[in-house]
Amino acid sequence: MASVQIRDVRKAFGPVEVLHGVSIDIEDGEFVILVGPSGCGKSTLLRMIAGLEGISGGEILIGERVVNHVPPKERDIAMVFQNYALYPHMTVGENMGFSLKLRGAPREEFDSRVKVAAEILGLTNLLDRYPRQLSGGQRQRVAMGRAIVRDPQVFLFDEPLSNLDAKLRVAMRTEIKALHQRLTSTTVYVTHDQIEAMTMADKIVVMHDGIVEQIGDPLGLYDRPDNLFVAGFIGSPA
Ligand code: ADP
Ligand code: MG
Repeated sequence: MASVQIRDVRKAFGPVEVLHGVSIDIEDGEFVILVGPSGCGKSTLLRMIAGLEGISGGEILIGERVVNHVPPKERDIAMVFQNYALYPHMTVGENMGFSLKLRGAPREEFDSRVKVAAEILGLTNLLDRYPRQLSGGQRQRVAMGRAIVRDPQVFLFDEPLSNLDAKLRVAMRTEIKALHQRLTSTTVYVTHDQIEAMTMADKIVVMHDGIVEQIGDPLGLYDRPDNLFVAGFIGSPA
């Protein structure tokens, strides 16, 4: 796995700057959650780590390497989105292995990686089904399977649970954490949900209007918020 370092990163869309110099150190194997209100820049930052958005200032390192100009495919990263569109005409197995196929992986490699991912996610008996035959939680697992088969250095999640109902959301939190423990993968996870952040993160990054307000572990932030925004957002008495 790899560390991710974000050093004084800025992002402007045309004349409008939306990230104003953000610095975060993410250690190898850490589960870090970016949390903050809608529009504060969480998705933009995640997309910059993935290479899907250019960097207007500062630098991003994955492991030892500055990746500012490295295309997404060469970053060894897998991303799970909120609107995980599965291909309706492909089976679960085909959906999970699609990126391997694009890469021209040999049949045996395709089969063995899909098999391992399916075992990890409890999808072994569903590999021949089609997405329409699955529940919401199963579809979400297939979306994670697509990331796992690539065996990436870093996993990025952008509000992966926000389309699920409350009960399933809680169950999936546990599954994602268990997955992280099993794969010991460096994970950057975006949510606007404080409870999700408090229950899942090793380290929480509280963002607000394009800046980092505070970084800390869940209890530390709760007990010792740096300012009123953090106190209000995390829900601790100021
Ligand atoms: P979050 O994920 O925290 O809700 P985003 O990263 O999506 O926030 O957005 C941060 C800010 O950047 C918002 O003001 C949003 O309108 C703006 N923004 C995001 N993407 C674009 C884009 N492609 N063009 C212009 N503005 C954008
Ligand atoms: Mg977002």
